[in-house]
Amino acid sequence: MRIGIDLGTTYSLVGVMRDGRAEIVPNALGERQTPSAVSIDDDGTILVGAAARARALTHPERTFRNFKRDMGTDREVGHGGHRFRPEELSALVLRQLVRDAEAALGRPIDEAVVTVPAYFGELQRRATRDACEIAGLHVERLINEPTAAALAYGLHQRDHHPGRESRIAVLDLGGGTFDVSVLEIIEGVIEIQASAGDASLGGEDFVALMVDALSERAKAQWGFDPRSMIHARARLWEACERAKCRLSSDERVEVEVPRPGPRLEGGEPLLLSLSRPEAQALWEPILQRMHPPIRRALRDAGVSPDDVDEVVLVGGATRMPAVADLAQALFGRPALRTISPDEAVAQGAAVQVALKAGDEQLDDVVATDVAPFSLGVSTVESHGRRRLDDVFSPILERGTVLPASRVERFVTAADGQTKIRVEVFQGEHSLCRDNIKLGEYTLQGIPSGTSGEEAIDVRFTYDLNGILEVDMTIVSTGETSTLVIERAPGRMSADQVEQARQVLRTLKFHPREALPNTTALARAESLYTELRGPARELLGTAMRAFRLALEEQEPEVIERCRGELLALVERFKH
Ligand code: AMP
Repeated sequence: MRIGIDLGTTYSLVGVMRDGRAEIVPNALGERQTPSAVSIDDDGTILVGAAARARALTHPERTFRNFKRDMGTDREVGHGGHRFRPEELSALVLRQLVRDAEAALGRPIDEAVVTVPAYFGELQRRATRDACEIAGLHVERLINEPTAAALAYGLHQRDHHPGRESRIAVLDLGGGTFDVSVLEIIEGVIEIQASAGDASLGGEDFVALMVDALSERAKAQWGFDPRSMIHARARLWEACERAKCRLSSDERVEVEVPRPGPRLEGGEPLLLSLSRPEAQALWEPILQRMHPPIRRALRDAGVSPDDVDEVVLVGGATRMPAVADLAQALFGRPALRTISPDEAVAQGAAVQVALKAGDEQLDDVVATDVAPFSLGVSTVESHGRRRLDDVFSPILERGTVLPASRVERFVTAADGQTKIRVEVFQGEHSLCRDNIKLGEYTLQGIPSGTSGEEAIDVRFTYDLNGILEVDMTIVSTGETSTLVIERAPGRMSADQVEQARQVLRTLKFHPREALPNTTALARAESLYTELRGPARELLGTAMRAFRLALEEQEPEVIERCRGELLALVERFKH
């Protein structure tokens, strides 16, 4: 069976199509979102999801989150004997998602459509594929998150307003990325006309600014910085994350700034108050950074804001009123949120699964996508006797409809030249050094001649997954070579992927059936460290009762105690 997976920075979701409608598959805890978090338990077992996320506060040094931001790099994290690359951590999340979905659907899952941010470049896309491979999951297709969201909305529009032509702008602000896409729906054809974004702009940046501002205020008052200790920083981060979400509905929040101390408890915390206007003033630089990608997507699609019929908000961070206000100011109309902003991407991935499978109910739906960035090579330009090197010559421009294949001819730049070094870059800057290098290949065996006499054809083929293949042909001999973008830094080799697969098989995982209990305890423990006074005592008593029940292994007692514990967690959470 096939599923759609939204492998998110903060949360991941699974979608399937049932009776022509996209649905979210709940995980083992019955929750629709699984935190993209991995933690190593005291006994070395691996915890994934909500239990891991709750441990971010109590065990920050052995809990890993936000690793999606490191995809395509060599950055490893670890604790004790364990070391993980971002692909491996993502594989652990994927493995859990698949297991949970298999249990919920009652069928084995062998293939998936996985979403990636449109701004994920070549290396990050390959890293995502590697993560799937490590998890033993065949990826049928990688699709861009905004495209997926657009598909979910496209299908929704088609079903609710059949026959209507419309142009939609999708603004997707997730935990770590911002994507904008412009699409047009005409008679069931969903055409993505342009897609742009900022790969390092997301909900987390809003939190980071709050952490900094409140730390500065605490420093001025106390004389020391809560950011200087890992536990205090982790707790302040959590407090700011919650405060940010509360500011989406409340006008003012109180944030507890933990006092750094040698132990978890630390000293008496400082209560700082933050109003929504104050927070919005803090966030202004980030809100400003949302403008250029929106302008670029509109320009690439050749439309003005007035030409857009509907503005759709996707991604948890679009719940912030400041983001909805920004969209309204730019487009002159309130934005739509018909589908839950957290679920549109996973739903769209499920739609893509059904499209690929030729689902009859989607017979008249066709979706096209475009390349979100330009790909090209480095060339040398001669200006009289002067030579300018490092010039970026795009071969596939951003906005090209996928799949695409383009060829460009280059000639030798010197007399007697028998080799040409082809360096491949991704980006929009005029000089290669400002773009991202994807790989290089030295093409040998060019017949010696005078400058400009011999030519090579460089062909870029860009598939629907956004993965590039580069072929180079010496025109006079017909000899062709293929550049394999594999050895770039930040890319795992095939052997490393295989090895990671083996390692994953030997890891000890926390038993799935124990997860509800472990997660309840981890959530309670995390909250316990934050509470004081009678609330803390009450929670402590409930935790002890639950631990005793677990030891006595009485299923009914365990269930009752867990229910009571979770009810307390809910009550004291805010
Ligand atoms: P996503 O990657 O789409 O799951 O988005 C996650 C981001 O949305 C995180 O940065 C969350 O803090 C943020 N988020 C979720 N709910 C809210 C809310 N009610 N208000 C503000 N931000 C939110």
